[in-house]
Amino acid sequence: MIYDFIVIGAGIIGMSTARQLQQAFPGKSVLVLEKEIGPACHQTGRNSGVIHAGFYYAPGSLKAQFCREGNVATKAFCAEHGIRFEECGKLLVATNALELERMSGLVTRCAENQIPFEVLSAQQLKEAEPNITGVGAILVPSTGIVNYAEITRKMVELVMQSGGEVLFNSNVVALAEQPDRMSVRTDKACFEGRYLVACAGVMADRVVAMTGVKPEFKIIPFRGDYFLLGVEHNRIVNHLIYPIPDPELPFLGVHLTKMIDGTVTVGPNAVLAFKREGYARLDFSLADSFEMLTYPGLLKVLRDNFKVSMLELKNSLFKAGYLELVRKYCPSLTVQDLHDYPAGIRAQAVTPEGLLVHDFLFVNTDRALFVCNAPSPAATSAIPIGKHIVEKMQTLTKTKEG
Ligand SMILES: Cc1cc2nc3c(=O)[nH]c(=O)nc-3n(C[C@H](O)[C@H](O)[C@H](O)COP(=O)(O)OP(=O)(O)OC[C@H]3O[C@@H](n4cnc5c(N)ncnc54)[C@H](O)[C@@H]3O)c2cc1C
Repeated sequence: MIYDFIVIGAGIIGMSTARQLQQAFPGKSVLVLEKEIGPACHQTGRNSGVIHAGFYYAPGSLKAQFCREGNVATKAFCAEHGIRFEECGKLLVATNALELERMSGLVTRCAENQIPFEVLSAQQLKEAEPNITGVGAILVPSTGIVNYAEITRKMVELVMQSGGEVLFNSNVVALAEQPDRMSVRTDKACFEGRYLVACAGVMADRVVAMTGVKPEFKIIPFRGDYFLLGVEHNRIVNHLIYPIPDPELPFLGVHLTKMIDGTVTVGPNAVLAFKREGYARLDFSLADSFEMLTYPGLLKVLRDNFKVSMLELKNSLFKAGYLELVRKYCPSLTVQDLHDYPAGIRAQAVTPEGLLVHDFLFVNTDRALFVCNAPSPAATSAIPIGKHIVEKMQTLTKTKEG
């Protein structure tokens, strides 16, 4: 049998794509191949669960557009399918004069990205969040929380209900593009598909390389450690509490996150991971580490950000340092309040020149499309990303089949 579409990866991007392929190409067959025992085992099931509003991102970027659209689409999907979410809003808290100055830059960004927001004084912040200390804040009401693994499981169900196949324990190990089809070999079987979409997260570059093409980027895994606050702190905040980001390193800065199950987490930080899917602090793979540490792009990133990288590493190893990051705005917390919680690993594309790819990145051949960079807020943006991929596939199929 030749499938019409084969999708690699049952994370939220792969499943959103599979579902939207079925909707756009009624009657065409869709097969999803996933190497794990179930969906959402990696980034999708190990994140903060925030439905971002999308105001940080460069105006005009795919991230800014897809996140704004995704905020609405994710909530609509949840409402349609009875998945719990909460529009709790997010507060970005300035704790000193420098952050207050950076806050005005963010206010401009919010306005440029057409995201509704309010600026709060120190007094208004205290009223909104009695346990949080700051000299001012931005409130973004449309930010929400959800469990992205639950959304992904629902998408698997919908794809299967519509006749799609989702095969777990199917690790794709080889790809070959022929004039009329893609051949896909897993560790168990071979499949043929007219078109392929690869949504392989932290393995994105390795899947591109299976086609024989050298990817123009490498995925560098950055671990994000979290801590869970004890249940006595479940009501410590009413909103998500974020620090004002450094514009040079916007993804750094641990936040206090209300989770949809009622608990509160602190995190994540960003530490180089020495194993792509190794979630424990001491997990190590010689092959992964050798590959990373011989990559000129990563060496440049480490040189340019040496101090910050060392600080993140130190705070990952010593709870007291980590705690200070959150005590800046929530001074009542102590080391005893921080309990272990599963970490996540971000897939970040880095160019050989040492640039972190900030925007979402896709590349395609005649018969295949590869999602190459889909870091946060890609869970929020998964529905518009799937739509974008489907539009690209419509162009590819028209070119090939007229
Ligand atoms: C710590 C952390 C916090 C985050 N917080 C947020 C947040 O609050 N809000 C937000 O919007 N985003 C957040 N993100 C980002 C978001 O989680 C990811 O961008 C999103 O989940 C990416 O989805 P994906 O489907 O591309 O990747 P993944 O979920 O990683 O899925 C990729 C899948 O491909 C499979 N795969 C890989 N190679 C193969 C192969 N050869 N054969 C078969 N299968 C294969 C993997 O097993 C995996 O299941 C966060 C990410 C992290 C790590």
